[in-house]
Amino acid sequence: MIIESAEIFLFELPLIKTYRTSFAEISQKRSILVKLSTSNLSGYGEGSTLPFPFYVPDYADTSFIVLKDFIISQIIGKDINNPTQLCQTFEHIKGYSFAKTAAENAFWDLYSQELNTPLWQLLGGQKKSVEIGAAIGIIKDSNQLLETVTLKVAKGCPRVKLKIEPGWDIEPIKKVREKFPDLPLLADANSAYTLKDIDLLKTLDQFNLMMIEQPLAWDDIIDHAELQQQIKTPICLDESILSVEDARKAIKIGACKIINIKPGRVGGLTEAQKIHNLCKENNIGVWCGGMLECSVGRFFNLSIATLDGYTYPADMSASSDYFADDIVNYKYNAQGGTAEVPDFLSDFEVNEDKLKHYTVTSHQFNSKS
Ligand SMILES: [Mg+2]
Repeated sequence: MIIESAEIFLFELPLIKTYRTSFAEISQKRSILVKLSTSNLSGYGEGSTLPFPFYVPDYADTSFIVLKDFIISQIIGKDINNPTQLCQTFEHIKGYSFAKTAAENAFWDLYSQELNTPLWQLLGGQKKSVEIGAAIGIIKDSNQLLETVTLKVAKGCPRVKLKIEPGWDIEPIKKVREKFPDLPLLADANSAYTLKDIDLLKTLDQFNLMMIEQPLAWDDIIDHAELQQQIKTPICLDESILSVEDARKAIKIGACKIINIKPGRVGGLTEAQKIHNLCKENNIGVWCGGMLECSVGRFFNLSIATLDGYTYPADMSASSDYFADDIVNYKYNAQGGTAEVPDFLSDFEVNEDKLKHYTVTSHQFNSKS
């Protein structure tokens, strides 16, 4: 397939309400989208970014610049036959996983259209629906938090994740656990603790959590390995795993029992497949997290979550839980704890008028110019 033209977008979608984690509050989704076109097809890909470098170093604006200055120039005008070949064109670029993911997703969209095969099948998926859990941001009002969890459980949500931070950890988990003794529950600390907090982290063992996600530093595996030896709750790594090599090292030293594979964080679906396969071989649990994607990004996450090693529910609530509007005509809408996986991104129908309405800046590339 010859990529004849490309367009990249930096866009901003307002959230219905502010989403709070231990590292920041988010009220605007600032994300990047790539459109790649051949002579007869167009594919879209989101590399769902955050508006700031507080989760990992790269964020929306730096991702847009790297796409503009380094990634698209490797693709435009080239004859690229499969996603592996595409990834090879920019593997010399260090980091910038979200930018690479946006380009790779757009190519996967083209590729599945060209082969007329659903993306989830191309990726090796084994199921047509995915279990969906809820991720609840920090709500520092116990009654409001319990109301939110109750609503999610009533809707059939199979597991709930609570964001925690120092000073707001034991109390929310205890309250939710008292009301829902059997609810599959996990806590996500987004790197907010250190080994100095080991006594507090040990007390979490009494709440029978499915896992604690990324308790320690975003770039650490050594301290996580030490912590895992001292707590019963399984550690799930998120921020620390940016590649299959990171996963191999973390597994080797016992830094985690579970990995949250977000395609955007690891540089795309091809790398996510590799991490999934490695985890399966090593009996490490896997699930698909989210980065507040709009429906475009969620399509790709849903597709990879059909692989059989993804045994825990994914973080992929309906688009309308977060956004009043979206950049597609038919928004992703999970109901009752499961989501049907669409065959093609075109099932959601990207709406270019809406995309342009929410675009902050964009750039066009043409192979002939
Ligand atoms: Mg996380």
